[in-house]
Amino acid sequence: MYPWLTSSFKHLSKRITNAKLHHALLIQGPSGLGKSSFALQLAQLLLCNQKQEDKACGHCQSCLLNSASTHPDLHIIESDKQIGVDQIRDAIKILNGSAHLSGTKVLIIAAAHTMTESSANALLKTLEEPTANTFLLLTTDKPERILATIKSRCEKVALPLPTLDTTLAWINTQYADEIDINLAQLFSARPLALLAELQEEQSFTYEIFSQGIQALLKGETHAMQLASDWQENADKMLKWTQYWARQQSQQQISDAQWQLNQQAIKVVKQLRNPGVNKTLVLTSLLTQLAEAKTA
Ligand SMILES: [Zn+2]
Repeated sequence: MYPWLTSSFKHLSKRITNAKLHHALLIQGPSGLGKSSFALQLAQLLLCNQKQEDKACGHCQSCLLNSASTHPDLHIIESDKQIGVDQIRDAIKILNGSAHLSGTKVLIIAAAHTMTESSANALLKTLEEPTANTFLLLTTDKPERILATIKSRCEKVALPLPTLDTTLAWINTQYADEIDINLAQLFSARPLALLAELQEEQSFTYEIFSQGIQALLKGETHAMQLASDWQENADKMLKWTQYWARQQSQQQISDAQWQLNQQAIKVVKQLRNPGVNKTLVLTSLLTQLAEAKTA
């Protein structure tokens, strides 16, 4: 278990031991926090036949099946785009059948906010009248997109965010090279996302970004030049822009900086459109950034 999630896990484990766990949990937290792993370990504990307080034993039949990812009473729904109604119906059929092993059945729905409206409606009845010993573990980083009828039938589990120190301590056990502190601050509450960023090739660093911005502010380069140089790294450039706006705002929050942050969020969406002129969109954002600084 990730160190920042240990206490939340212990809390829920105790309730499993006392048979006081709500049958449906909505596990919330930003992406890169470890929600999937948290839900999976909770499922493994629920299914273990020889629980040792807050731990699955690791050697009973259930645990062995789980470590091979072949437990017949654990069903996981995940989707990159949308969770369709057929996926939910199939899962409900399995939940309504009898359990193969210990009697407990678990359904994990990852990124539950991607359920379509009909998927969510198909799930409602199961949430309202759960079969005995059945647990539903929903995870999401966008709880605002989940239907109120679903939310009201789940117990909310908001996972705590790690401090920067906790994140850095964990990253140091996973990653041997030196860590850019700007990058660490940008991802401080999302350790797994930070690790993924670190493991990616770091060709476009915050240092390169901020040197470019300094040059732009001094009039030594143009927004369009930077946009064209950086368009291959557009995603990172947008992250750095938001980070930059936040850094500026630490001293004094100005409307212009806030708007810059909002604009960066908008550009993230614009760039998902394959027909968009990247250089043009990025140029306009960089121009706004330069104006925010002088405002
Ligand atoms: Zn076990």
